[in-house]
Formats: sequence, structure tokens, C-alpha cells
Amino acid sequence: MKAIKIKKVIIEPLNLDLGEPFRIAIGTKYNIENVLITVVLENGIEGYGEAAPLEPINGENQATALATLKSCVEFIKGKNVTDYRAISATLRGVFHAQVTARCAIEMALIDAYAKVLGIPLYEFFGGAGNKAETDYTIDIVPPEIAKKNAAKLAKAGYTVLKTKVGKKLTDDIDRLLAIKEGAPLCGITIDANQGYSPCEAVHFIEEMGKSGIRPILFEQPVSRFDLQGMRFVKDHTSIPIAADESVFTSADAINVVRTGCADYINIKLMKSGIIEAMDIAAIARSANIKLMVGCMLESKLALGCAVHIVAGMGCFSHVDLDPHIEPEKEPFTGGPLYEAPLYTLSPDLPGIGCRKK
Ligand SMILES: [Mg+2]
Repeated sequence: MKAIKIKKVIIEPLNLDLGEPFRIAIGTKYNIENVLITVVLENGIEGYGEAAPLEPINGENQATALATLKSCVEFIKGKNVTDYRAISATLRGVFHAQVTARCAIEMALIDAYAKVLGIPLYEFFGGAGNKAETDYTIDIVPPEIAKKNAAKLAKAGYTVLKTKVGKKLTDDIDRLLAIKEGAPLCGITIDANQGYSPCEAVHFIEEMGKSGIRPILFEQPVSRFDLQGMRFVKDHTSIPIAADESVFTSADAINVVRTGCADYINIKLMKSGIIEAMDIAAIARSANIKLMVGCMLESKLALGCAVHIVAGMGCFSHVDLDPHIEPEKEPFTGGPLYEAPLYTLSPDLPGIGCRKK
């Protein structure tokens, strides 16, 4: 293919109203404060990428992601878009800790490249399919609200509901019982976001059992660094354990394989970037560890990119890509069509398929 140079790079804040505060075990978010990068090729094609920083997870915030992306411009401008892997490798060497910024660049380059090729991203990633069904997260709310939300979500068509645990055991059990009551036919996944010690996690599992609750998945019960502790939890339950915060890199994935501490690895583009996500997926599949996919607080651009990867690769057993922005507040049109709980990708929209409003 003829070289197609990157002519221009635009970096800007992407501020979005969440509507309602989103509570997780490590804090509350009121707004989405992300960063948008646009690469413009010499033939006029534009590629878009989004960084979704969240300090407690990836150590970045909007200010640091903006600054990193601005520092990256000199490594991108004038390069050939087909060299996206080489550009990514250079940036990984220079800005190894700034993963959401690097992810945004990879996203923009791959979006532009797929547009050059005239194919949607799911074809670029293997073309296994063009659909993905997501769960939906009920955040840390009182039981009566959780029950109402669960019933509403089940009626809307969701078959799997997720909730955050790890704050207070009795409240967690009460909320899980309420969700079960509101949506008795839905599977429930739980995510402690590192909130328990290994013994507390096992105690929590025992207490759930006494209440007749059996989640289909238990995400990151303990500290991301305590793989032995996670192995202890896994050894004391038949509920599948997922490593989320424990896996940012392919080396982390190998450590999960070596310690045998998880049944699932949760891939998130904002932890690993896109290219390293492919490596993590390969390691997990080789080790017979299942894959799930998750997200941060992202617009339909980054979410859409993840949906393309999931659909195109066709190897994800569990999808946690629930949108948190009202469609009218989205900064983009196009992208994946979302009819809860199913995403459908159009074969006619090249790249991620998003257009700036
Ligand atoms: Mg998680």
C-alpha cells in the first residue's frame, strides 16, 4: 500500500455529563472527563481516538492525558498510518505508564487505517461477527432502588446484571437479594474492585451462598497485586473468578496464568491499549482462561471500538460494555447501533463508524 502520511493531529478535552453520579468501590464520578484525539491523513481521512483516564485504576486524569497526548504529537505527525504498530511500540517505550493516552492514539490510527481500507473495524480484527450482547451495571444504591432498576433492566431485555460489592458485606448481600428479586431470571456478576481481603472475600462468598445467591462471575475480589490471595479465593469457591485490575499488560496476564488465580481475564482497552489487548487475549486463550471485556466511563467512540474488537475477534465469553451517556449527550453520531442489550455494527461504516456531531 502507498504510504499515507499523518498530516495533522488535534487534541482536545472530551467533557460529558453523566446525568447521575456513578458510584464504585473506589469513589464516585459525576462527569466524564476524557480526551479526544483526531488524526488527519494527507488524503483527508480522519481517525478518532479517546482516552478515558480514571486515577485509581490507570493513574491518569484528564490533565495528564492531555499533556501526554500533546507530547506524543511529535512521534505521530508525518508518520505513515500503516506503521501504527511501530508508532505504538515507540510510544510504549517512551510513555509506558500513560496507557489511556497511548490507547487513544492506537484507536485513532487504527480507525483511520480501517477507513483507508474501507472496512469496518470488526473486519479489521477478524470479522468473526458484527454483534455483541452486554450486561448492565447497577451501582451501589439502596436495595429498593436496586430491585426497581433490576426489574426495569430485565424488562428492557438484559440477561446479565452486574453490581459492585466490597464496601459493606450486609449492604452488598441486601442489594444482591434485591436484584435477584427484581430480575429472577437474570444472571448476576459481581465486582469488588479489590475491596476485600482474601478471607473477607471467601466469607462474603459463604454468606452469599447462605442467602441462595450464586453469581456467575466474581471480579477482582482482592488487591490487584495479591495474586496468591486471589488464588486462595479461587481455591475456596466454584464461582468463576475474574482478574481485572490485576491485568494491564501481557506480562501481568502471564503472571495470572502462572499463579492459576483466575478463570477469566477482563480486558479493557484503557488498561492495555488495543495492541497489547490482542497479546493478552492470545495468552488467555492459550492458557484456557476465558475472556471478558470491560470499559471505563467512555463515549460511544471508545465503547464502539471495544464492541468492534469483541465482535471481530469472537472470543469473549462475557461483555461488560454498558453505555452511561444518554444518546443525545453523545458527542458522536453513527458507531454501533445499540438496542439493549445488543450492539450491532454496520458493514457499511468504515473504521469505528463514529462521526463528530
Ligand atoms: Mg472490574
